[in-house]
Amino acid sequence: MRVLLSLGGNLGDREDNLRKALRALRALEGVALGRVSHTYETEPLGDTAQPVFLNLAAEIETDLGPLELLDAVKGIEKRLGREATYRWGPRVIDIDLILCGSEVIDGERLTVPHPEFRKRAFVLAPLAEIAPDAIDPVTGRTVAELAACVEDKGKVVRSGYITP
Ligand code: ADP
Ligand code: MG
Repeated sequence: MRVLLSLGGNLGDREDNLRKALRALRALEGVALGRVSHTYETEPLGDTAQPVFLNLAAEIETDLGPLELLDAVKGIEKRLGREATYRWGPRVIDIDLILCGSEVIDGERLTVPHPEFRKRAFVLAPLAEIAPDAIDPVTGRTVAELAACVEDKGKVVRSGYITP
């Protein structure tokens, strides 16, 4: 199954944390890392009195089921030193599952497609770079279409590229 992930963080060495997260994903049994977007500097949502985020999108091909993958990414977040804060608060690394093939999951621990991704420019801009034709199974729209009409006014500026 092809899975599209959104990664981001705003504490510590953001590039290094993203690079470590990509390497950890690639090292997972049953996961092949595919395309990785550029990085994007993005303004924080909610609590804006925190450092700017660095976000990117990555594509993986995996035999893991969605919940197994969620456990694996939570493990990576933990190893990279993520500590629980408040919703939308500062974090070393956040890894979210945005799309899992054409699956629609509405579970206690996992909602896929990610419930907020259609309104977040910081998710859609990098995602549109690597997977413009991916289809949101809920709305039937492509990532490129969703990215083109997102109303999020937060600044999202392409910055660099991380070689995993
Ligand atoms: P944030 O909402 O800021 O990403 P967390 O990363 O702490 O917050 O995630 C909180 C919980 O959201 C996770 O423990 C996970 O069970 C749940 N969750 C639900 N859907 C998803 C998804 N698509 N991707 C990642 N986590 C998800
Ligand atoms: Mg998360």
